[in-house]
Amino acid sequence: MHSPATPSTAIAIAIVGAGLGGLVAARILQVHGIACTVYEADAAADSRTQGGSLDLHEESGQHALRTAGLFEQFQQLTHPQGETMRVLDKTGTVFIDQAPGEGGGAGRPEIDRTALRDLLLSSLAPGTVVWNHKVTAARALEDGRHELAFANGTATTVDLLIGADGTWSRIRPLLSGAVPQYCGISYLELRLSDAPTRHPDAAAVVGPGILFALSDNKALMGHGGQNIHLGASLRVPQDWITASGVDWSDTDAARNALLKEFGDWSAELTDLIRHCDQGIVPRLIFALPIGHRWEPSPGVTLLGDAAHVMSPYAGEGANLAMLDATELALALVEHGINTGQAQTNQAQTALAQYEAAMFPRARAAAEASAAGLDLCFADDSPRALLDFFTGMPTSP
Ligand SMILES: Cc1cc2nc3c(=O)[nH]c(=O)nc-3n(C[C@H](O)[C@H](O)[C@H](O)COP(=O)(O)OP(=O)(O)OC[C@H]3O[C@@H](n4cnc5c(N)ncnc54)[C@H](O)[C@@H]3O)c2cc1C
Repeated sequence: MHSPATPSTAIAIAIVGAGLGGLVAARILQVHGIACTVYEADAAADSRTQGGSLDLHEESGQHALRTAGLFEQFQQLTHPQGETMRVLDKTGTVFIDQAPGEGGGAGRPEIDRTALRDLLLSSLAPGTVVWNHKVTAARALEDGRHELAFANGTATTVDLLIGADGTWSRIRPLLSGAVPQYCGISYLELRLSDAPTRHPDAAAVVGPGILFALSDNKALMGHGGQNIHLGASLRVPQDWITASGVDWSDTDAARNALLKEFGDWSAELTDLIRHCDQGIVPRLIFALPIGHRWEPSPGVTLLGDAAHVMSPYAGEGANLAMLDATELALALVEHGINTGQAQTNQAQTALAQYEAAMFPRARAAAEASAAGLDLCFADDSPRALLDFFTGMPTSP
């Protein structure tokens, strides 16, 4: 691992959010000797579970890690078996059972989200991430700088502000009035830990990689491995989670409610619900409008979900966040942000260069994600997804 060079920047750079995007940006800036501070709402690195696996794409997630000088460590953390894919319907009929290296999974190694985040965190200069600093308000000052107010009662002023704070970004309103909209899909997050040992049948149904079990606008979708992470997803109105009257914090009640929703699914699939761990978490899928963009504004930009949150059905969000972060950091380096001269103008040119490439890229991915949602959630699923993967219609 390259150690970050001694930071020498003359300007104060704040990255809000220590997700994958914010951390990649910080790491690449530091490798080039540019100091920055990452303000994170969470109290500590382990205060929240980070979810299941991610497959990182060559041109985005993997490119980011190469640029960050972390690719070799990343390779040691991947699990090649995770490139498998299984597509089933509610009866348990297996339509696709793809081994590692076959088809679309090839060259997209899977890594556990926590392992990836820890790799990035450990690569940063000590003290880079300031935990327990939830931004509650961000205000533009007259000279292009910004003031950040934190929930813990403190405040700071920064020269360059990078919003990497996800779907409900507090930085976004400085640039755009857009608000993420509900995509029509709600899901219940399920986990089966130590699956190969404790739930071998479930591990076999899911496989080590990605599972799509789809029928009737419903899905059991997620990743296998040591711990299975699944979403039991439904196309339902936005208030369904609350209007259902279910106490989702009561695992038994949540399991029973889900088993009712998936009542005509095969037992091997509903066993994934029956045997999940305590703690079922309800979540809703939101997306910004496709093509979301903003006019350039001095001293501030967005990356990742803060800029273009989209539904997860093209598997692009984390990859894009990492690519955004890479391109933004490299643009700041290229424009000499650490030379101590004419910093504000140089930063503006770098932001404009980054945004000009990011907007069309995000638009294309958001279109693919919206199309992916309709491939997965239809009356006759998984037909459309099978057509997509095989490249030919399975029915007239
Ligand atoms: C079910 C599901 C499955 C997915 N599967 C995939 C996949 O297979 N492949 C893929 O590429 N993508 C996937 N995604 C998308 C991916 O998770 C996101 O796009 C990615 O995490 C975005 O990274 P980010 O760094 O922009 O934001 P985030 O990961 O959301 O990080 C934002 C950070 O900012 C912090 N924060 C938030 N608000 C504040 C505040 N006010 N002040 C300070 N800190 C704050 C948060 O605590 C968090 O640490 C999936 C998403 C979902 C919901």
